[in-house]
This record gives sequence, C-alpha cells and structure tokens, in this order.
Amino acid sequence: MKKLSILLLLCIIIVSCNHTEVKQEPVKIADLNPQFENYKTQFIENLWQIYPGWASSQGYHKYDSVLTIPDSMERYKELRFAKANLDSLKQYDALTLSDNNKTDYYIIENQLNSSIWSINNLKSYQWNPSEYNVSGAFADLLTGTYDKPDARLRNFYLKMRNINAYYQAAKYNIKNPTVEHTQLAIDQNLGGIAVFQDDLKDALAKSKLSKQEKDKMELLAKSAVAAIKDYAAWLKNLKNETPRSFRLGKELYAKKFEYDIQSGYSIDEIYAKAIAHKKELHQKMFVLADKLWSKYKGNETKPDDSLRLIKQVIDKISETHVKPEEFQTAIEKQMPVLIKFINDKNLIYIDPKKPLVVRKEPAYMGGVAGASISAPGPYDKNGNTFYNVGTLAGWKADKAESYLREYNKYILQILNIHEAIPGHYTQLVYSNQSPSLIKSLFGNNAMIEGWAVYGERMMLENGYGNNEDEMWLMYYKWNLRSTCNTILDYSVHTKNMDEDEAMDLLIRQAFQQKTEAENKWKRVSVTQVQLCCYFTGYTEIYDFREAMKTKMGDKFNLKQFHEKFLSYGSAPVKYIREMMMTESNNI
Ligand code: ZN
Ligand code: ZN
Repeated sequence: MKKLSILLLLCIIIVSCNHTEVKQEPVKIADLNPQFENYKTQFIENLWQIYPGWASSQGYHKYDSVLTIPDSMERYKELRFAKANLDSLKQYDALTLSDNNKTDYYIIENQLNSSIWSINNLKSYQWNPSEYNVSGAFADLLTGTYDKPDARLRNFYLKMRNINAYYQAAKYNIKNPTVEHTQLAIDQNLGGIAVFQDDLKDALAKSKLSKQEKDKMELLAKSAVAAIKDYAAWLKNLKNETPRSFRLGKELYAKKFEYDIQSGYSIDEIYAKAIAHKKELHQKMFVLADKLWSKYKGNETKPDDSLRLIKQVIDKISETHVKPEEFQTAIEKQMPVLIKFINDKNLIYIDPKKPLVVRKEPAYMGGVAGASISAPGPYDKNGNTFYNVGTLAGWKADKAESYLREYNKYILQILNIHEAIPGHYTQLVYSNQSPSLIKSLFGNNAMIEGWAVYGERMMLENGYGNNEDEMWLMYYKWNLRSTCNTILDYSVHTKNMDEDEAMDLLIRQAFQQKTEAENKWKRVSVTQVQLCCYFTGYTEIYDFREAMKTKMGDKFNLKQFHEKFLSYGSAPVKYIREMMMTESNNI
C-alpha cells in the first residue's frame, strides 16, 4: 500500500507541475485496474473467512465445516473487516478505474457501509429471532452434489459441534423481539428439525461411513435437535411485555432503502411516483374497461364505481386461459414467439447460441406452480440456466382454476416476458459477458427486477400483443402489483398502515385475490424494503431511457440502448445511467 501512495503522490506532483502543459501532453495516470483486480480477489477470500456460511451458500465449499457463533466477538470481527476494507478502498480513485471496476468499487463500498450500519443501527440481531436458523445450511450439505457424499457428511458432523453455542448466543442477543419475527422463528426452526432426523438418517443409510462414525453423528444430531427445540420453547415462553413493532420506522427505513436499493431517487420521491403512477394506471384501466364492457358484459348495467367496473371486466377476461394440462406446453411454445418478435422489431440482440432450457420443475422445488429461472451460482460457470415450469398435475380443480385465471392468456405472456425473454434470462446472458464475481454476489436487485418489469412495458409499447385492449388492461393490472408493493411496504413501515387498509389497497385498488393479499401482508410484516425493488428499478430505467431519448434525439436507437444498458452487468441503475450519459457526450 505504501508503494501505491508514493505512486499516487508522484502522479499528483506531475499533474501539478505540468499544469500549464496538460493540454499538449496528456498526463499518464498509473493504471490501477490490475491492482484493483487483485484487491477484489483478496477481498472475496477474506469475506469468506468472515462469512463461511454465506460462502457455502454461494458454492464456495472451503469452509463448509464451520458454523460461526453469532456473538459480540463475531460482530466485532465483521466491523473490523468492513472498516479495514473501506480503508483499502481509499487507495483507489474510483473515477480512474474501468467501468466494470468502478461499479464493483461502488458496490463493495456500499456493502461494507451497509454491514456497519446493520450492526450499529439496524440491530436486527436483537429483534429478529428468525435470523437464527441452522437447518438450511445443513440441508445444503445433504442435498449438495459437489464432493463425495461422505465428505459432505463429515462436514455436517463438524459443523454440528457449534449448534449449542450458536443458539446460546442467539438467546443472549435477543431483546424485545417483534411478535411477528418471533412466531416466524418458532415455525421455521421447528420446521427445519427434519434435516437432523429423517433427512440425516436417509443420508447415513446410503453412506459408507463406519458404524462408529454414524453413531457419533446420530448422537450429536440428537443434541442439535434438542438445542433447536429449546430455542423454540424459549421464544414461546419469552417474557416480552414491550415487544418492538415490526414496522421499521421512517429513519431506519430510509437508510435501508439507500443501502439495499442504491437508487438515484430517495424513498420519498419513489413513493410519490408510485402514488401518481397508481392514479394514472386507474385512469387508463377505466378507459379500456369501459370500452370493453359490452364485449364482455353485454347489456349488464355498468357499476357507478370505476374500480368495480374495471374489476368486473378483468374477472371476465381472466376466464380466457389454457387448460391445466396445457399449461407447461403453452409456456414452452411462447419462447420462439418472443424471440421472433424481438428480432423482427430490432429490440435487442438475442444470442442464438445460448438458448433457454425449458424444463419441468424439479421435484425438490416443492410443486410451486408457475415459472422461475434457475441460474448457476458464481462458482459454477458451466452450469445451465433453466426455465422451470411447474405443472398443475394433481391439483384440485378449483385451485387449478383460480390459478389459471390469475395466469390467464394475457398475464401468462407477460410472465414469460418478465422471467425469460427479454427479462431475467436475457439480462443474465448479458451480465455473464462482463463477468464480475462482485456483481454475481452483490448484484443489484432493483436493477435486475427493474429490467424485467421494464421489459414488459417495452414489449407492449412496441406492439407485442397487437395492441389489443385486453392485453393492455391485463398488463396494467400486473404493473399495478409492483406499484402497490412499493406503496404497501413504505406505508406499512413508516405510515402505520393497518391490515384493513392494506387489504383495501391490494384487493379493491389493485384487483388482487384475497389469498394473494393476505400472503403479501405476511410478507410485509417480516421483510422491509425488498418489495420496493421492482417499481424502483423499473421507474429508474424507464425515466433514464426517456432522458436519453430526449438527449440523443434522432440518434437514439432502442436496440443499442438496451444492449449498452445490459453490458454493465447487474450494477445499480444510477451508475449505469451516469456512465452512459457521460459516454453519450462523445457521440
Ligand atoms: Zn376457467
Ligand atoms: Zn422478477
């Protein structure tokens, strides 16, 4: 580091001495990119030592046998790590780094500041008992495919040795927890016990370990189960007369939004935009529903209330859906249609060498219908990316019907745009072209989700679905969902919105089913900020595109804009915007 400072000093001296001559002879600034690359490698190595459980979950298995005890010593180590790395970052001037390194720099800096803030200010280790749960990590050891099963079982054994101390530390940390997180912790911890009972038993039965080793493991597993049960019982009986509210409050919320979303907008600006957007969507939906009324409702009298009118038309259109047994093939057949549309309209280059592998959802994903993307982890570069499509086989008729109405003919197409092409899957293909371990580990969720949500609107704007009124109406309903997610999250955590008001927002104003709304309420009471990433990312990307259009005028090209935008990888939109705006000055 000393060498580095001398080098920097030299540059500064040269710059200041040659001040008047700068124009004739550009000053050479040392290229710190190679050094920064080394720094990043070292940073991640050290990160895994501090967070071994996180390492395992990302496919880095060197520390699989380690279970860290979440005590004050551990928090001290995390703080020391963050502060030391913030110091190291100061050796680099982000502005002189390549675009890829520059964004990595900002992402690392944000991550470190965020972890310091979490420990010192957010303090969820005190009020969120569901942060303590060991079963997931142990389940991964049993179901993993890396290494030999017996090697994974030995790590399982070594890791179990700290479980007692782990829950002791948890109990010591917890102070006035929220009722919601306490209940969640009880449910999830008890739910995870099977890992140390039947799941382990099955794995041991198949293994070649000696009888002695197996006995030793079973014995330790028994004490692990006892520690988990003890933790759940302790939580149940906890004297908690002044529980903390699950609502985060304005100050903490604003800060968490800053760290988690890394938006160019403040949460207040985003909230105002969401409220305005909801109003605009309602107006547009009313125009369409009113127009479609006679087509779907014949001579029935229109309700006076515009939201009720919209709802009735939506309900009727939702009856147009595929049969349960056609659900999967309907999704598969969509892929080539989407690709052809994108190519015909010149919207973005889709690499034909990287086709999306559509597969039936594997059994271990637990029969969740619908569609999702599974991407290989950062340490599994050659792994395939799959589009998992759930089947409705074995579903009760009424459950399947209600599901298919939700994912009706129109919404199903929007879902495919979002999850696959040009949404998550396409973004992933592009981000893999500028490989950055930093971005695969700390990729910006608002950018990732925002891109998928932006893609929906972009496709329709370019005529996908032939500008059918039904398609637009359903799209608006879908878009209302992410808009209301933001309104809900912010209102619940900072404006005391109660459950009745939340149900009114989701069911009456956003046309959601009761079960969906109730699940959303559960989610908002145990998470914070995360529900905002869809609308925030979408808004930022859309606003940015419009600003770029204005700036470039005739020279604006949508295809180039998309390709350039995605070439930066999963970086926060505000940085991509900054870099693209700067670059466009030279065009
Ligand atoms: Zn039906
Ligand atoms: Zn998504």
